[in-house]
Amino acid sequence: MSDLENVTLKLEARGYRVTPSRRAVIAAVLQRENHFTVDDLVSGCRGAGRATVFRTIRLLTELGVVCRVLLEDGSLHYRVSERGHHHHLVCTECGSVQDLDRCLIADLVRELSQSTGYEIDGHWLELYGHCAACSGRVEVTV
Ligand SMILES: [Zn+2]
Ligand SMILES: [Zn+2]
Ligand SMILES: [Zn+2]
Repeated sequence: MSDLENVTLKLEARGYRVTPSRRAVIAAVLQRENHFTVDDLVSGCRGAGRATVFRTIRLLTELGVVCRVLLEDGSLHYRVSERGHHHHLVCTECGSVQDLDRCLIADLVRELSQSTGYEIDGHWLELYGHCAACSGRVEVTV
């Protein structure tokens, strides 16, 4: 689990200055237990403008402190996660998001790269549906 000091040190090690308003944004991010949008943070974080919040979130994403979650309605959310590259199960009923442990399509990406000659740098894959609780199934452990 990241704490504020840890993240601050990581950013400084990469040559970023951690201003008081950036620090406030990072603290607000680390307190979030669920996924959130940039706007959620702007309203919950006094003293930091939208541009600062946006830039800080982008840094945290690059640093691997938060991951990006694309909801089914097209809105981009963020979530504290240090898993590195991974995908999500997204419940369209209750909005809960579950991190998947690994990339599900690494082999496919490799094959595509070979067959098309593309150097593939990234991809998105989110899976939408109803979680066990919402679909009325008994709780399953993943
Ligand atoms: Zn659900
Ligand atoms: Zn995630
Ligand atoms: Zn992947």
